[in-house]
Amino acid sequence: MEARKIAEECEKLFYDLEFTAVREWKARTGGRVVGYLPTYVPREVIHAAGALSVGLFGGGDKLEIIKGDAFYQSYICHMPRSTLELGLSGRLDFLDVLLSPSLCDVVRNLSGVWQLQFPNIKTKYIDMPQNFDQKVGGRFFISVMKELAELLESLGCRPVTNELLRESIVLYNENRRLVDALYDYRAEAPHNVPTAELYVVLRASLIQPVEESNRTLAGYLAAVKNRSFRPLDNVRVVVVGSFCEQPPLNLIKTLEKSGCYIVDDDFIQIARWFRRPIAVDGDAYSAVSEAFLSASRPSSSIFEGDKPKSEDLVQRIRDRKAEGVIFAAPSFCDPALLDLPFYQEALDRLGISYTQFQFSENTGQFQTIKEQTGTFSDSIKLWSEA
Ligand code: SF4
Repeated sequence: MEARKIAEECEKLFYDLEFTAVREWKARTGGRVVGYLPTYVPREVIHAAGALSVGLFGGGDKLEIIKGDAFYQSYICHMPRSTLELGLSGRLDFLDVLLSPSLCDVVRNLSGVWQLQFPNIKTKYIDMPQNFDQKVGGRFFISVMKELAELLESLGCRPVTNELLRESIVLYNENRRLVDALYDYRAEAPHNVPTAELYVVLRASLIQPVEESNRTLAGYLAAVKNRSFRPLDNVRVVVVGSFCEQPPLNLIKTLEKSGCYIVDDDFIQIARWFRRPIAVDGDAYSAVSEAFLSASRPSSSIFEGDKPKSEDLVQRIRDRKAEGVIFAAPSFCDPALLDLPFYQEALDRLGISYTQFQFSENTGQFQTIKEQTGTFSDSIKLWSEA
């Protein structure tokens, strides 16, 4: 199938706030559905239990908030309100479990509000290790994953055996390999992989069963490699800060239309969480835990230890041959905005250009952003030619 057609199918899944495909899966299989908030949860365990994991990344710009605002003060990000609105309007009534990873105070509070509002849906707070010693954080994370497996078993899912978990790891390793291959190819030929297209393909992967997602990703990768669009005189940028609440699709299109090729980003981080495949020999829980501790890509949601995240950003800029950075964080997003000064200091030191703005998932006005990023890309071009 043509890449554009695959992306169109994925866009339909992305914009379907009734989650029709998930409802159909549940009706067909009778299985349990586990929703999760950004950023990382061990999806392998959910799959091994025979349940379907569904990424809940907010309602985007197509959802009117009617009740969700009543639960939060005005000075927090938008994603929790729209997620709650999805629940209160009955759009998430297929959920059996909601997983809330330890990302920030807002997500922590959302899990509490959710528990009170939806007592029939099991809410589980997934505490991710912030100690990276396998004997401490590793053991802790294994116990968290086993608790999750026990919760699913108590809901009628099959027990997670070592063999089943290994099979799930193999499928998710392939999923991440395909996403990495797409990111690599986009960096090599950004004119053939518009980020607005790649983005909806990744959003669909949050909803599709991993087997189906692997087929979609493989089909899209093959299709974009067959393209030969004409390269434009755009500047190559890395977009940083949108790892939780997501920018509206039209904002991504606006960046591209303003003269930027996005050659790296941190949208939907779970799709490429690990730097390498999870091992498939030995104890499968230990393998997931070991990968989380030693091979997670830096994220604002995890402690950076003795290697500053800014070093990783600089490395990504070099690897992707980027010419500048766009910091695009959701309004009031503490984890993203607290990292920003450290990134800026590193880029200032190296003389790497950057610009920044904040957004909400339902931002509808893009003209100012287009002018800002258009001027940014022009200035890089002029500066480079000087
Ligand atoms: S957008 Fe930022 S502040 Fe809001 S829930 Fe996500 S990480 Fe937390």
